[in-house]
Amino acid sequence: MTEAPTTITAQAQTSPVFRSDFDLHRELPATLAGLEKISRNYYWAWNYRATSLFRDLDPQLWDECEQDPRLLLKKVRNFRLRQAAADPIYLERLRAAEDEADRYLASSVPAATARIAYFCAEYGVHNSLPNYSGGLGILAGDHLKSASDLGLPLVAIGLLYRFGYFRQSINHEGWQLETYNDVFESELALTPVLSATGERVAVSVHIRGREVVAQAWLAKIGRISLYLLDTNLPQNGDVDRLITGHLYGGDTETRIVQEKVLGIGGVRLLRKLGVAPDVYHLNEGHAAFSTLELAHEYLAAHPDGSFADAAAEVARSCVFTTHTPVSAGNDAFDPALLIECFSKEYIASLKLTDKEFLALGRADLTDDGEFFGMTPLAIRMCRSSNGVSRKHGEVSRGLWQKMFPAAMNLTDVPITSVTNGVHPLTWIASIYQDLYERRLGNEWIGATRDAGAWSKALDAIPDADIWDAHHTLKELLVAFIRNRTRVTDAGSHETINEHTDTLNLFDPAYLTIGFARRVAAYKRWDLLFSDLDRLLRLVDDPERPVQFVFAGKAHPQDRTAKSILQKLMSINHDSNWQRRAVFIEDYDQEVARYLVRGVDVWLNVPRRPMEASGTSGMKAAMNGVLNASILDGWWIEGFDDTNGFAIGGDSLMLDEEMDAADAASLYETIEDRIVPAYYSVDAEGLRRDWIRMMRSSIATLTPAFSSDRMVRDYLTEIYQIT
Ligand SMILES: *Cc1c(COP(=O)(O)O)cnc(C)c1O
Repeated sequence: MTEAPTTITAQAQTSPVFRSDFDLHRELPATLAGLEKISRNYYWAWNYRATSLFRDLDPQLWDECEQDPRLLLKKVRNFRLRQAAADPIYLERLRAAEDEADRYLASSVPAATARIAYFCAEYGVHNSLPNYSGGLGILAGDHLKSASDLGLPLVAIGLLYRFGYFRQSINHEGWQLETYNDVFESELALTPVLSATGERVAVSVHIRGREVVAQAWLAKIGRISLYLLDTNLPQNGDVDRLITGHLYGGDTETRIVQEKVLGIGGVRLLRKLGVAPDVYHLNEGHAAFSTLELAHEYLAAHPDGSFADAAAEVARSCVFTTHTPVSAGNDAFDPALLIECFSKEYIASLKLTDKEFLALGRADLTDDGEFFGMTPLAIRMCRSSNGVSRKHGEVSRGLWQKMFPAAMNLTDVPITSVTNGVHPLTWIASIYQDLYERRLGNEWIGATRDAGAWSKALDAIPDADIWDAHHTLKELLVAFIRNRTRVTDAGSHETINEHTDTLNLFDPAYLTIGFARRVAAYKRWDLLFSDLDRLLRLVDDPERPVQFVFAGKAHPQDRTAKSILQKLMSINHDSNWQRRAVFIEDYDQEVARYLVRGVDVWLNVPRRPMEASGTSGMKAAMNGVLNASILDGWWIEGFDDTNGFAIGGDSLMLDEEMDAADAASLYETIEDRIVPAYYSVDAEGLRRDWIRMMRSSIATLTPAFSSDRMVRDYLTEIYQIT
């Protein structure tokens, strides 16, 4: 395995497309050298004591740097560094955090011995590594963190996007605007991957008669190595340098080429690193070209073999997870364009004709016009395919049944499910973690891996402590909301995020409902606004008011979604709406953290059965925030009548009928169940009924929807390495 160097060598950027990089190097006081070391491994991101060391150096700068420790260390004033270096309490905290990280990382296994290679187009490890767009990326990040915590021999492959995903702002007309930030690798905890002889490790991929080179970077996610491929190299032409430019931003050809770099380049990189895994996990279809490269390798070594032999061999080591419940959500490419993006030699090396090659990506082999789908390719080439909740497994079996003509019944379709989970140490607020440490001991996280033990352990925590922790987080959320809206206040006050009296926005005493998710039609943002008068009666109630916080991005090309957002922005009523409803721009992991911890209720109203799993509700649940959700995705498995609220039923209906029925149920649930439960207080001034539900949410949903449980399920049911 190539050892990453300990100093970052700045890569000169000569193309006019990119600003030149800058040298991050800075002398820290010797006693603070540990900060540099801690910043190099993203383990700090799920260790709140380490995180707070960076923040406490200069809290304002920390937020200005968007919680990027390496940028902070570069920018922090010398005066603040000297203050910290002269502060024995700070130094003691630093030593303890360093020790903790050293102990944790001591049992790392070398990447070269990894037995599982995990491929994904995006990773949401932390905001400071802007390599994700939403749920899929966050899930992949949480997968790596749990794999690290559980000591799995896993190595991960992805792409390094020079401009990341778009940043959202809302203009005065309520219309979403998109911008992209430059991502500088020297500001991130990335190290260039070097060979034993000190050269940069790079792979090349054929693209339309050219060889495009991609260099590798290494990010350490605890004990896990995450390798990111990057085509931004002077030897590539400007167009090719941008292949790894934007996450989901390019045209179809860029998309194909990106996926070639990820799938084919990814396998080639593993070979250069000397990694020969037993299992390749393709997390979503984006990496499915890797199966072609594995077949290509096999046939190079077995010149007498057929493609069928190769495919059988490839399937033995490949597993696939699908994340979309609709066929339109799956990547599919124009056959002619796809053929142009692959060389004749490559297709011939697979011993396939063009027609046979294209058939690999078709669900219906009789339809020559069908686009080349990455999901059919993956399902065909892998030994196992799974959805991400039980319901999604069932939906996926229906969606892809046509690929299995021999399957007479839906249950015969070989697609299983592993329900998603989220990483507890990333998502549970530190104030709860501290409560658990004090009451249950430092090994409390072990108890969350056992439903019975965890539920029992929680009995030791008094109601008042749970409520105090929650209320503190709610006050923090209100402060965050006021802060964010003040910063964006441009003086005009016509949309809901243009507020006049930001200092008095929101009240921590009021029932607060959070709704944050991608803006897409099936998520039904408009359901809540289907009866505006009824909604405003809730908001304006003098005794028991309700306030709402919203956040979410619309896909840049999705005008329908942008119109939905604009409609929400334009609600400008003679009511308390302007003081009790807010839209937080640029939903990301940091915003999510404040929201899923600080609201009382997490609302989710997708049109069934379109929510493959959903994960934000799991983050909320672990923080004692009660889910109020349609029975879809994970909530079908999570809801037990004591740990949150179910909206609507589970019977099948036409879309319009379902929308009407669910809207009615949504209002009734808030009016008749959530509001009365929240506002009922006992003689001691405690919300006993509410706290009982919070406790049940934490007790039942933390073990079941932890990514530790998810990764263990993958290990035993899918990877099955022995
Ligand atoms: C968790 C998360 C998501 C995914 O949430 P869903 O419930 O699946 O919509 C998306 N974006 C961010 C920033 C998140 O933190």
